[in-house]
Parts: sequence; C-alpha cells; structure tokens
Amino acid sequence: MIARAAVAAFAALLASACATHRARDGRPLTLDTHVDIPFAYMAEPRFDAGGDTPLKVDLGKMERGGLDAVFLVVFVEQGPLDAEGYAHAVAQAGRKYAAIGRLLQRYPARIRLARTPEDILANRAHGLLSAAIGIENAYSLGHDLARIDAAWAGGARYLGLVHVGNNDLCTSSLPDAERHESNEEGISEFGRAAVARANALGMMVDVSHASDACVRDVLAISRAPIIASHSSARALVDHARNLPDELLRAIAARGGVIQAVAYREFVKRDSAREAAEKALQKAVAAQAGDGEYDSEKHGFLPAYLEGMQRIDARYPLATLDMFLDHVQHVVRVAGIDHVGIASDFDGGGGVDGWIDAAQTRNVTDGLRRRGYDDEAIRKIWSGNLLRVWQAAIDVAARHEEVGR
Ligand SMILES: [Zn+2]
Repeated sequence: MIARAAVAAFAALLASACATHRARDGRPLTLDTHVDIPFAYMAEPRFDAGGDTPLKVDLGKMERGGLDAVFLVVFVEQGPLDAEGYAHAVAQAGRKYAAIGRLLQRYPARIRLARTPEDILANRAHGLLSAAIGIENAYSLGHDLARIDAAWAGGARYLGLVHVGNNDLCTSSLPDAERHESNEEGISEFGRAAVARANALGMMVDVSHASDACVRDVLAISRAPIIASHSSARALVDHARNLPDELLRAIAARGGVIQAVAYREFVKRDSAREAAEKALQKAVAAQAGDGEYDSEKHGFLPAYLEGMQRIDARYPLATLDMFLDHVQHVVRVAGIDHVGIASDFDGGGGVDGWIDAAQTRNVTDGLRRRGYDDEAIRKIWSGNLLRVWQAAIDVAARHEEVGR
C-alpha cells in the first residue's frame, strides 16, 4: 500500500511539475543518462564545469542548450581481478565521487544532486540543473557488496555491471581478446548478489556494455525493471555494444528502458574512420612520450584536436538524423514507453548536430520533425527513465515491507 501511495503521489507531482514547465517555456524535461567526467574534473581550471571548458558538458552548455539533468558517470577501466586491481578501482571511483562532490559544493545555485525522480522535478521547478550519479563498471565495487551500499549513500542510482573486458560480475559485450576471454557465459554469483542488493536498495541495474548472455540473465533475476543507460540498435548498426531487437523487446516486456546513445561508432559504422582515429591516438600519445593514449591527458592537446578536424573532414561524423533513426527503431520495436536518450558526452559521444550539451534543443526539434508529439517527446526525454527509476525505488520499498 505504501508503494502504491508513493506511485500515486509521484504521478501527481509529475503532472503538476509538467504543467508548471509547460506553462513556463513549453520545453520537455530533458535528461541525459550518460555523461563522463575526467579524473581532474573540478580539480583543474580547464575542467571547472562552472566556466568555459573544452568539455562537451558543462553548466553553461547545459543552461544554453536546455539540458536539465545528467547522470554523471563514475567510470573505471577494467583491470586485473585481484586484490591490487580491486583496490586501484575503488580508489579511482573515489576520485570521481569526490569530483562530483566538488561540483555540487561549488555551484549550489546552479546544479543540485538528484537522489530521486522527485529531486529532478523539484530542481527543474526551482530553475536548477540536476546531477544524478551512475556507476559504469561495477569492478569499482572491489568485489565487496558493502560498497554498493556506500555507493548508494554517495548518491549512485544506477549500477552499470561491466565495461570492456569481462569482470567479476558478468561478461562483456566486448570481451578482452588478448586475454582470450569468451562471453558465452552470463552473470556470476557475485553479479547475482550485486543485482539483488541493487534491487533491495532501489538502485537501477544497467546492462549497457554487458554481453547478450548477461542481459538475459539479468532480465531473469532482477526484481525491478532494468535500463540500458547508453546502447543503440544492433538491427541498424551491427556492433556488439548495440542491442538486438530480441533484447530491446525483452527489456521492454519487463518494464525497462533503452537509452539510445549518440556514440559515433554505434550510430554509423565507419571502419576507415575508426582506424584513422586509432592511428591518431597512437601518434599523439607517442609524441607526448607515452606508450598508450589517455583521453584525459592527450584528448585536449592541439595535435589531437587538429587531427580530429582532419578526420571529420575526410570521414564525416555520424549525424543527429542517423542517431534519431536509432531512437525511432527502438520506439518501433520496444514501444514509445521504453526508449530514452543518452549522449556519452566526454566519453567519446556526440554526433554532427548534437555535438555537445549546448546543441540539445536540436534533438527535440529533430524528434518534432519526425512527428513525435509533446507527450511522446516528454516520455523519450525523461518520462520513461523517471518511471523506471521510480519503479526500482518501489520494488525496494516492497522488499523492505516484506522483510519487516
Ligand atoms: Zn560506456
């Protein structure tokens, strides 16, 4: 009963908040579920999101582009599955939580943390931006379930199970070929325990980057609807990071949402461009005296930016229209109630026409041109994701009632 009352209260709040916003400027509430941050975020002047930055998402760009809310991502790269590797990942995640903390502390009059869907609505009603937090690669839990609770306390509201390379929770859509990994198996015992703990807390489970086998396993065990925080459609672009129609349908059938992502390679396959980008990264890293390319260290160097301009001229970037094809495909296959939007900005995302947060209105205009009405656009931009988020919270509340 408590859960049902909460749903009703939330629905009422959503309706009144929508009415307020329509009255104010007619814009739908816009929510991007996947935005990366560098380790030096809010620590170096160039990454101070309150100023003019080389980042694709900063507060000014969000305000100008009408992007109301973002999930900032606590991402760590996959490393060895041993004590040292886990400790390193935990420490790296700690740096990202601290960076988000600095943002919220420095700009309380512009952006606030959102721990619930209600927070997102309330922030917008007060003319404030929202930052929510998502985990990308649960390797950073350091193989310790108690860290999910710590992450929850720190504001994390989705749990991205895996990244590139298999980990201790599940197999990856892109297993590590050098380590001869296979991804036929799905979720591990620890992964199952992590999903159960996320369900109990009300944290959404995110299957972007997971193998198809893992997505199937998570669908079978999760007590709450799940999300794919940044994945597009494999039927349009045959990339392992995109989801096949069968899984788009299965996620929708369990009430979840697929957040189509404006990431170039997933929207438009261009192997010549991919090769040119890899060659540039290698060259810029070598020039800087490093063995490997590091986006934070090398991705803002003039040599890299100029090289990318040459690549853009030679191999045109995927366009907003191509991205909207993916959104539309997910709508057709999964239904209008099961699609959302993610950029993967500052993690390689961005397409011609939605190259940074300042161009967010182009996405809304593009949806309108394709015939989506205000109600459909509201669902795509935030309504669906907020519904799934609330459902995760309600499942946890029911779990607590039963346990009492
Ligand atoms: Zn990702």
